[in-house]
Amino acid sequence: MTVLTDGIIINERPLKEKDKIITVLTREKGVISVFANGAKVGKHSSATGLLAYSDLSLASTKGDSYVLKDAVPKQVFFRLREDLTVLSLAQYFAELTYELCPREDKADSELSLILNSLHLLCEGKKPASLVKSVTELRLLTLAGYMPAVECCSECGCDLTEEAIFFNYTTGEFFCEKCAGGKRLLPCSVGVLSAIRYICLAPQNKIFSFSLSEDGLSALSDISERYLKSITGKKFKTLDFYKKMI
Ligand SMILES: [Zn+2]
Repeated sequence: MTVLTDGIIINERPLKEKDKIITVLTREKGVISVFANGAKVGKHSSATGLLAYSDLSLASTKGDSYVLKDAVPKQVFFRLREDLTVLSLAQYFAELTYELCPREDKADSELSLILNSLHLLCEGKKPASLVKSVTELRLLTLAGYMPAVECCSECGCDLTEEAIFFNYTTGEFFCEKCAGGKRLLPCSVGVLSAIRYICLAPQNKIFSFSLSEDGLSALSDISERYLKSITGKKFKTLDFYKKMI
């Protein structure tokens, strides 16, 4: 059976002299592995390179195994390669995609999110830290791990006072009264509003907000710790990015 889909290459591994295995976030099948025979060099090499966004024609063999028949690049995000910091963040997004996106299921929203994130990183008009936090929190939300943003998880108050606290292992927020002696991350009303916005806004609007530098830094800390706690993973690309900033 032939599968026609667009997708972004999130990993590539060499295999023998000219072949490689690529991992792709596809619109139609989510994250899949594809044998790309002869693609290390030759006409399919750029369309199957890391972070290329391409139209793909795939032969589905047995189970979840795919063989590349044709690949045409739609966008190659060359500008990411001009800045190592930005490139390491883009590679971190690729790692997150692998951890959090569906398998053998449609992944429209996830693919749009990653494409928008990479586009914004290339443009450089939004702070990289904002793009990072939105990508982390929205991917978690799409994967079913939206933090409990509505109210204090203990008393149900609407968290309008300035002091708010976040439990990054459970995704719960607490008012000052209920935070008690728990080990929680402090969070402001402004940062909570940003988190609510990222989780709940329509897909095409999620990057359209601003925060102070301190707010962005707090947001980044919260989204990152929550993500690490949910996935239970350490991300080498993230460590590298943080060394560069
Ligand atoms: Zn409370």
